[in-house]
Amino acid sequence: MPHYYIWTIGCQMNKAESERLASFFEQRGYQAAATAEKADIIVLNSCVVRQSAENRVVNKLHTLKQLKKLHPGLTLAVTGCLINSDTAALKRAFPHVDYFFKPGDFPPWLGKTTSDQTLPQSPPVSVYVPIIQGCNNFCSYCIVPYRRGREKSRPIDEIVSEAKELVRRGAREIVLLGQNVDSYGHDLPDRPDLADLLTELNAVDGLARLRFLTNHPKDMTRKLIDAIATRDKVCEHISLPVQSGNDAILKAMKRDYTVKHYRQLITEIRHRIPEVALSTDVIVGFPSESEEQFQGTVNLLSELGFDTVHVAGYSPRAGTIAARELEDNIPAAEKRRRLKIIEQLQEGIATEINARLMGQTVEILVEGKTKGKWRGRTRSDKLVFFSDTGDHLGQLANIRIEKTSPWSLQGKLEKVARPEIRREGEE
Ligand code: SF4
Repeated sequence: MPHYYIWTIGCQMNKAESERLASFFEQRGYQAAATAEKADIIVLNSCVVRQSAENRVVNKLHTLKQLKKLHPGLTLAVTGCLINSDTAALKRAFPHVDYFFKPGDFPPWLGKTTSDQTLPQSPPVSVYVPIIQGCNNFCSYCIVPYRRGREKSRPIDEIVSEAKELVRRGAREIVLLGQNVDSYGHDLPDRPDLADLLTELNAVDGLARLRFLTNHPKDMTRKLIDAIATRDKVCEHISLPVQSGNDAILKAMKRDYTVKHYRQLITEIRHRIPEVALSTDVIVGFPSESEEQFQGTVNLLSELGFDTVHVAGYSPRAGTIAARELEDNIPAAEKRRRLKIIEQLQEGIATEINARLMGQTVEILVEGKTKGKWRGRTRSDKLVFFSDTGDHLGQLANIRIEKTSPWSLQGKLEKVARPEIRREGEE
């Protein structure tokens, strides 16, 4: 029996696509290999969103060159955001790679496939479902629209029937994915939106929870906020990247909103969904970002108090508007200093937010085990660990919090909140 191995880095979209690639291979009689050395076919699912990610991909490709020399029969393929329109240039740069195929596609040399053949046979408790591919926004720093193309939404019916099938196979939570989920549906007949999709999915029997990412502050609507507030399975967690707390920088980033708009949006969300948890993304050291402009970001983050902040130093990506038109003029050491300031600030904020949960009972969906402890998430996306000898996979469990940190919580099992849904084929 032939073996496959998939190496993945990057965002949740890449992880979702790798889950489906694995299913594609298994449907064709392949088995997962424990290591790349034991595989007959290796697929690298690449990310180039920052230089550091691209370096890791290139290093991996160089390592695999040696493996290919040792095993000339090995098939090596690359997908993900490294793939641009010039595959001939990629082939020249990496002659030992047999195939390059676009992100979201399936190995074309192995024949045509249908979407039901690529659904994971045994999905994780929390499973990703891509709902829209590509992005039409062209934020000035971002390579994604050049690599993943323009927006293309999947029809609601297709997503709902896929969700039902995933639940039948054991999933209990669905995480809807898109580069900008707020754009969902504008290219479909009848122009449904994310709120409509959430309403349909909320009615899927056996599904416990729904999540979605990522939102765009310029596109998020009151209708969506209402849907989150009123649909019982939709978790109170929103990922809303702000990127900068300064209007001139936001303009140079081509984000199409102001700090004032962002602040108002957060106020409205918190008013409508008081228990909401919020995550954001920030880029520091964008071209010409002054100390004062950086302080604008620091002040906004202190004022709004996010549950999670993902911070990155600006990394010019060849071909983007920013790389073409703006000089990368903030020294690397200064980017690191700004990054550290935000990390430290956020550590303090998250410590405080999570400490408020001390002694409280939270409901988590148990997703698996890490180092012998059960692991799950609250509706607000807090990671919680507890110890117990029972089998709690896929259960909603009530946990009394006994220890908190900025990154996770620990507690004691009080009770299983609702009956578990058994996986297909189990007694
Ligand atoms: S919204 Fe902006 S940052 Fe997000 S994928 Fe599209 S272009 Fe990139």
